[in-house]
This record gives sequence, C-alpha cells and structure tokens, in this order.
Amino acid sequence: MIERQEIVMSYFNLAIDGPAGAGKSTIAKKIAKQLGFIYVDTGAMYRAMALYFLRNKIDATDSGAIEKACQKVDVTIEYRNGEQLVILNGENVNGLIRTEEVGNMASASSVNKAVRMKLVELQQSLAKKADVVMDGRDIGTYVLPDADLKIYLTASTQERARRRWLELKEKGITANLEEIEKDITSRDHRDMTREFAPLRQAEDAVYLDSSDLSIDEVVAKIVSLYEGVNKK
Ligand code: C5P
Repeated sequence: MIERQEIVMSYFNLAIDGPAGAGKSTIAKKIAKQLGFIYVDTGAMYRAMALYFLRNKIDATDSGAIEKACQKVDVTIEYRNGEQLVILNGENVNGLIRTEEVGNMASASSVNKAVRMKLVELQQSLAKKADVVMDGRDIGTYVLPDADLKIYLTASTQERARRRWLELKEKGITANLEEIEKDITSRDHRDMTREFAPLRQAEDAVYLDSSDLSIDEVVAKIVSLYEGVNKK
C-alpha cells in the first residue's frame, strides 16, 4: 500500500493585543510590510458589524436583538494592493468605519458573545492560510492561543489620549483632550471586564510599553523578537 504523506503547511502567526490607541495598527502594518506578512485588522471587523447595528438601529445592550441581527450579517475580508477591505453584506465599508460613532458602537457591541463568535471563525481561518500579523484585544488569549509570537502592546492612558488627539488634529478635527482620555478609559474598562474573551495579556506574551518609544523603535523590537523565534 502506498502511504499518503500529507504536507502540512504551517504559517507564522504574530498576535498583537493591547488597549485602544497603543499604536497596534500602525505598528502591525509596518511589520507586515517588512516581513511580507498579511495584516489582519480585527477591530475593522467589529467596526463593520457595528455599522450594521447602527444602520438598523439595534441597541448594543439588547443581546437578543444583537443575536438575531448577527444571523443576517456577513462580514468577509478581501485584500487589494496589500490593503485589507472589509466587506459587509457585499459592500466595501472601509471608508465608513473609522468614525467615533462606529468606534463607540464597536466597543459596546463587541461584548456580545454572538458578535465575537461570528468574527473569531473568520480570523482563525485567515491565520491558517497565510503568515499573518493580527491585531486586536483577544488574539493571543482566545483567537490564536498557539500564535508563534505574542505581543501585548500598551502605553499610558495620557500618552494614548495625546496620540489620538494629534491624529484628530491632523485631520482638522478639534477635540478635547480630557474627553478623549475619558473615552479611552471607559473603552479599556469595557474591553477588560467583559465576560467573554476580555482584553488581558496572554501569559506567554511579551509586554511592550510604547509610551517612550517611537513607532520605528517598537517595530524594530518586534522584528528582532520575530527573528529570535525564527532562529530556534
Ligand atoms: O481596534 P479598534 O478600535 O478598531 O476596535 C474597535 C473595537 O472593537 C474596540 O474598542 C474593541 O472593543 C473591539 N475589538 C474587540 N476585539 C478585537 C478587536 C476589536 O473586542 N479583537
């Protein structure tokens, strides 16, 4: 009898978790480019779901309505010129999900297990098909518990608020720094205290505080950690 040998391709999975405004997406994008990986932005998926809830006037605290709505939502991902596109029921919603309104709804609705279960499957299937840098809140702890390298990226609340304020200012939006700080604190609280898959540092994650580091310094640190894993 001829024995069939199955070739199991294994891809490198790099997980970056941390609170809002820690710089995860900026850093993950740069790392993906440098290493030739695919960047998976899981926050964008929660934002697409949030957009659906907002459009359909669904209350984030009404878990029954959220569960029902989840059955009607289809979120998929496509890549165009290296950029992740989030497709909500056939519509590319990339240009619509970066508002404060959608961000707040994403934060409130993502506590629902039905919302999370819907997206976790999609995230896991992406990580099985390619080398990925995936960022979010529960990647190292729940979505990819066997990730090859896990980073917990954070910064002080003040510094995260300052960065967000600058980002808005660059877009020509005047915002109140104190309000931003309050918003960040309440988002952190919601992410860290939710019952299902809360934000926390995985035991085997490397803790990185970026408060006093430049973007390039953080990228260099993570790339060197990656090289260390790869040499083993
Ligand atoms: O990272 P971003 O701000 O785009 O995420 C939007 C919201 O989605 C977050 O405030 C967080 O509550 C939620 N989220 C999550 N789990 C993830 C990614 C995002 O709960 N893996």
